[in-house]
Amino acid sequence: MPELPEVEITRRGIEPFVLGKTITGVAVRNPNLRQRVPRNIARLVVGQRVKRLRRRGKYILFECDAGSLIVHLGMSGSLRVIEVPSAPRKHDHVDLVFGRSALRLRDPRRFGLVLWSRGDASRHPLLARLGIEPLSEEFSAEFLHRVTRGRHVGIKQLLMNAAVVVGVGNIYANESLFKAGVHPRARADRLSRERCARLVTAVKETLVAAIAAGGSSLRDFVHSDGSSGYFQQHYYVYDRATLPCRVCGAGIRVTRLGQRSSFYCSACQR
Ligand SMILES: [Zn+2]
Repeated sequence: MPELPEVEITRRGIEPFVLGKTITGVAVRNPNLRQRVPRNIARLVVGQRVKRLRRRGKYILFECDAGSLIVHLGMSGSLRVIEVPSAPRKHDHVDLVFGRSALRLRDPRRFGLVLWSRGDASRHPLLARLGIEPLSEEFSAEFLHRVTRGRHVGIKQLLMNAAVVVGVGNIYANESLFKAGVHPRARADRLSRERCARLVTAVKETLVAAIAAGGSSLRDFVHSDGSSGYFQQHYYVYDRATLPCRVCGAGIRVTRLGQRSSFYCSACQR
């Protein structure tokens, strides 16, 4: 599933091809995504110039004069730049055409979104209640310490709560907690300010490293077979149950927390 780093890498990958360009057409081959692509999408977006390409959480926002096109990659979506014309393959549901090139959304599981928001996209119902961005200055030790007070939940669940902070999915929550030496079940309200600071730093470093690692796959967004722009990474704990901890050698453990698999080292994380 595309998480924040993959979405940010996608944004950076497609930005040079769409920024300042005018949308000349839309081809919708299958409108039945997580929400139906609006029937009048062509009338809404054709003629609009992309002034800014922004990411908010895992949403990519094509900011135009009259509003914003909101794209979400769902569970399995990817965007790539193609030359027009180019025969679509199965699961290539939507093309956003910019003259002689186009942006093609491929989404086998159809949990993605292509929507239009008039005016300020940050007020759209899907975006209005999103928490803060983990790579922004607002996400600080003070912030985490403040929002964890009175929360009788495991810190991992709070870290993955998109109403608090967006885009820290299961992989990056596991990895960040390991890096910070914090157990996934550690009670949020009992985390010291110092441990909050370590965790905030770990989240930022983990996401920045993942984005940097994916930078090398940027070329995959152009004229590729479109299989994906994702990349393999070297994880410390994620998906490493029973394997030796890369720091201390103890076996990595796995437990279910909030219906998600949590991987941790009981020696390195408290
Ligand atoms: Zn360890």
